[in-house]
Amino acid sequence: MNDPTITRETGCALVTGGSRGIGRAIAVQLAEDGYDVGFCYRKDHEAALETAQLVGRAGRRSFHRAVDVTDFSAVSDFAEEAQEKLGQVSVAVAGAGITRDRSLALMPPDDWSAVLRTNLDGAFHLSRAVLMGMIRRKSGSLILISSVAGFAGNAGQANYAASKSGMHGLAGSLSKETGRHGVRVNVVAPGFIESDMVAGLSVKSRLKAEQAIPMGRFGEAHQVAAAVSFLASARAAYITGSILRVDGGLTL
Ligand code: NDP
Repeated sequence: MNDPTITRETGCALVTGGSRGIGRAIAVQLAEDGYDVGFCYRKDHEAALETAQLVGRAGRRSFHRAVDVTDFSAVSDFAEEAQEKLGQVSVAVAGAGITRDRSLALMPPDDWSAVLRTNLDGAFHLSRAVLMGMIRRKSGSLILISSVAGFAGNAGQANYAASKSGMHGLAGSLSKETGRHGVRVNVVAPGFIESDMVAGLSVKSRLKAEQAIPMGRFGEAHQVAAAVSFLASARAAYITGSILRVDGGLTL
């Protein structure tokens, strides 16, 4: 934060899925904003170490752990340990997400539940782990990373779109439950962002996507992180229950 009139809340930021891609960009951005950062990931330990180094380079402390966000107790333990090491949680970002794309008519039930459990249950688990503390302190910002697929669905992504729409409902409800307690809950909904998640797109699909985006190109992870940084900050002090699209105009 460069504006000297704005002071950040004290405490740390938690980011699920902070080892790679958008989650890593968010972890690093929040470190640059002055937060110590606790983050978790599923299994890519090397990538996690790299994120920790980047947080360190930004002059902040970090704590990371391999935690499966589908596991309620594991996420609670992670949040508790992060607080012991880094202080109270001021900002929490539910970034962990997966896709298992397939037409619904052919979708194995496991692919449905893996996506719902990671994306939606994972967001619930993080929210549940941090909200009571934020409510008690009458301060905090929770940010869920959804997707433009959460607005109108996407062929081949019924599981993913359902999970992301669910996050919109979750955030709206939480913002109504917590607004009077000084806690803000918002969503960032990215469009196509350069990352491992879109690396598998065929040349044809990528071209089609670029043609549908008014800005004519995919976004970058740091651009999503900038939106998170804003929503986490005091500059967004009167913003709760919002969904901020970072999609180059894709959903206009
Ligand atoms: P990546 O695939 O690059 O990274 C996903 C991150 O989530 C990794 O850190 C991964 O850990 C972690 N993760 C996955 N499953 C679990 C789990 N069960 N428990 C804990 N951590 C887990 O994804 P992106 O950076 O592309 O996406 C980040 C978020 O942004 C997701 O929620 C995604 O849905 C959303 N999004 C992305 C878009 C895009 O175009 N890229 C567009 C719209 C939304 P590990 O590396 O160990 O597996």
